[in-house]
Parts: sequence; C-alpha cells; structure tokens
Amino acid sequence: MDKRPDPEALADDVRRGSRAALSRAITLVESTRADHRATAAAVLDRLAGDTGGSIRIGLSGVPGVGKSTLVDAFGTMLTGEGHKVAVLAVDPSSARTGGSILGDKTRMPRLSVDPAAYIRPSPSSGTLGGVAARTRETMLLCEAAGFDVVIVETMGVGQSEIVVADMVDLVLLLMIAGGGDELQGIKKGILEVADIIAMNKADGDNAVKARAAAAEIRAALNILSPRSAAWSVPVLTVSGLSGDGLAGLWQEILRFRRVHEADGSFAARRAEQRVRWLKAAIDDGIRRRISADAGIRAALEDGEAAVRAGERAPTAVAEAILDRLGFGTGPRRD
Ligand code: GDP
Repeated sequence: MDKRPDPEALADDVRRGSRAALSRAITLVESTRADHRATAAAVLDRLAGDTGGSIRIGLSGVPGVGKSTLVDAFGTMLTGEGHKVAVLAVDPSSARTGGSILGDKTRMPRLSVDPAAYIRPSPSSGTLGGVAARTRETMLLCEAAGFDVVIVETMGVGQSEIVVADMVDLVLLLMIAGGGDELQGIKKGILEVADIIAMNKADGDNAVKARAAAAEIRAALNILSPRSAAWSVPVLTVSGLSGDGLAGLWQEILRFRRVHEADGSFAARRAEQRVRWLKAAIDDGIRRRISADAGIRAALEDGEAAVRAGERAPTAVAEAILDRLGFGTGPRRD
C-alpha cells in the first residue's frame, strides 16, 4: 500500500460493496502506521452514515465447543436466505497466523468460498483493547459494504467476551453438555453477558445429554437475577453438524431485536457503546501521543523512576506529563 489512498474514493468503493476496497480499508484500520490510521479514520468518518445496518452478534464459547462448525452452517443458512454475513474475531492471544486463508477454509469450508460472506480473522497483535477497537471498526466497514449480519467470534476464555459484549447487540454463548464449561461460563462472568445460550452438539447419542444440560442451565439462570424485565435468556439446543435448531436460533435472534427495538433499548445500547468507544479512542490517542513524542516519553521514564523510588508523588508527575500535551491545566479531580 504505497500509494496514499484517497479516503473519499475508498469510502465510495466500500459503499458500492467492493470486496477489494473493503479488504483495503480493513488493512488500513489494522495498520500501526500513523498515516494509515489517519486515512482509516477519514474513511470511517465518511462512512459513518452508512453503518449500523446489521444485527451484531457476539459468539462466545470455549475452543472445541463447535463455533467454526456452527458459524459455517448458520452463516450458509443465512446467505441462502439472501443475507450477507461477515465473520470477525477478537482473539488477542491468537497464535493463528493473521489472515490465514487456509485456516478459514478449514474452519469454515462453505462460508469461506461463499460470495455473500466475508471472513476476517482477528487482528493479530496488540492489547485486547486495541484488537477490539480494530475489530469494531472492521465491523463498521462491513456494514457500510452492505453486510446485514455480523458475527464477532471470541475464544470464550476470558476478558475478551466482556469487551465483545460492548460492541455487539447480543451475545450468543455456545456450550456443550459435560464440557465443564457451564461452570467456566459462570465463574468468568460469561453467563452474565449472554443474551442467548445454545447447547451445541445436540445430535445423535448426545441429543438427550444436551437437552438435560440445557435444563440445568435454565435452572441456574433462574437463580441469577434477570438483567432485563423484557428478556429472559433462552437456552436452546442446536447442532452445527446436523443443522438442527439453527432456524430456531435465528428466530430467537430476530425476536431479541424486536423486543429490544420495541422498548428502545436496542438503539440505547448502541448509543452507549458509541460513547464508550469515543472515550476509549481518546484515552488510546493520548497514550499514542505520549509514546510518539520522544521528549514526553523521556519525561515519563524519569517520572516513573522517581515514583518507583518514592521520591515523587504519582499525581504530581502525571499532571506534569499531561501539561506537556498542551491541553492547559485541567480541573483537579477531587
Ligand atoms: P471451535 O473450536 O469452537 O471452533 O470448534 P469446531 O467447530 O472446530 O469443532 C470442534 C470439534 O467438534 C470438531 O471435531 C467438530 O467436528 C466437532 N463438532 C462441531 N460441531 C458439532 C456438532 O454440532 N455435533 C457434533 N457431534 N460434533 C461437532
């Protein structure tokens, strides 16, 4: 990407649904180069009015629970009905080689060759917050390109589910009978952010066990106080392998949207998310400006040493560093 792309032209091409333009814009979003990020920001700004047209589904579940198999089947079902499906991921710990086409072809053999689907692996490096921010921007680009279903996958093993819950409309938690992950989900607070739970691999000999496990989860959920009066979390049984339950799963997702649109909470959640992302982007920008300025970086290092040695107070050093960013003096935070 040597030629400086024109944000206006790139935004137009994304809007027209060009896959090449979409990939190019995503590459800019994921770049660590300041000029690329500036172009990406300009493109996103121009596309702001074209975003928001998808149902944003977070998909969580521990490795082996059957996410890839389910997304392949579910996504293919949806494209068969005329939807355009984007599959993204937030996985900062990923050892998967970023952009591995072979990986996606193996994981989602049908969807990866489906012209109505777009699969993008997790940005491969950075902090969880940074990776999530890039994924969120990628989601917006996909929406501008006309994708009306966005699935954001996470690996179900920690903090990333909470971050993903903050960028999607609903979280679908995939579980399996006897996986021990009922408990994992509860302990890590994943159960609390789930809006729909699906007990997967409910096929063959496992179908009975899956239904029993679903009943257990329903009972466990009854103990927790419900997050919303309008929605009690449904616990379904599905099979990504046989396709059983996938049509019902889609109906539940649509029902979730209907219920939350009716009481205004769907739009309110998105508005809240946008404001939180604005604040996160500002925090992130301040940190980047600090590390981009050699003088401020040196002052920070000196300050850190003085604070570590107990010679100076953290607040005073922080104020001195922030003064150097040129905002003027802020009000005291007390
Ligand atoms: P992921 O790690 O969550 O993406 O899980 P995968 O989709 O790769 O599936 C893990 C294993 O479970 C594979 O061996 C799949 O063949 C198997 N599997 C996935 N979905 C199902 C299902 O619905 N039923 C059954 N019986 N096996 C499944």
